[in-house]
Amino acid sequence: MQVFDVIPGDGPIVLGQPHGGTYVPDDILARLNETGQGLADTDWHITRLYDGLLSGVTVVKSNIHRYVIDANRDPAGASLYPGQNTTTLVPLTDFDGQEIWRDDQAATDDEIETRRTAFHAPYHNALKAELERVEAKYGIAILFDCHSIRSNIPFLFEGELPIFNTGTNSGASCAKAVEAAVDDIAQASGFNAVLNQRFKGGWTTRHYGRPATGIHAIQMEISQRAYMHEAPPWDYAPDRADRVRPHLAQMLEKLNEIALSGTVEPRSHQ
Ligand SMILES: [Zn+2]
Repeated sequence: MQVFDVIPGDGPIVLGQPHGGTYVPDDILARLNETGQGLADTDWHITRLYDGLLSGVTVVKSNIHRYVIDANRDPAGASLYPGQNTTTLVPLTDFDGQEIWRDDQAATDDEIETRRTAFHAPYHNALKAELERVEAKYGIAILFDCHSIRSNIPFLFEGELPIFNTGTNSGASCAKAVEAAVDDIAQASGFNAVLNQRFKGGWTTRHYGRPATGIHAIQMEISQRAYMHEAPPWDYAPDRADRVRPHLAQMLEKLNEIALSGTVEPRSHQ
């Protein structure tokens, strides 16, 4: 099993997909309890959802499940949302707050470090290399980090999540034109859409989004009801997906256009 896959493209947009992988090494799988082995907290079918939406796009995807180690968390272990319920670098619970490991089988600090080196670091080395390659060619790279989550998770948020949840670390991770390109299309889509609400962008968005250096990052967290069935076996729903994919395509095409236009301000608007 490869830790990650890179599908290189010749354009200025890079898709990050840290949570679509379902691979768990056998020795770690045996330590997950029945809840954990269900792998419920997967960004199911995220590669398929974005497949073919933009020619020339680069895709970097992790094949490792987030229960092994979460590629969208700070490798130093800092909480993404201090004071709120959230899952950690190597999660102890699922999104519903249920324990996922058998008794005494949670990872030790040494094991977390081993997993960081084996799985987290290689994915990010690849993502960083692709962003730097693109930035060297165009003077700009836009990382669009692709995520999805169940629509109703009381442990994490109240009520039903909007379809499009755009995150830019409250404006710090990209130029205003980048944020507006995505949010304006989301707002006009006919689906409900919010900006920098519950999901403001994970560690990936916050870490790579350095507009002053030419690397812009934006996260899209999509409610899974937009394209799939939100219960096991987590089937893709092509009829639903075909209604949301044109809006995602429009966002990526707009980002591509503004990246190539040379007009993006190399500063955040925070
Ligand atoms: Zn995700």
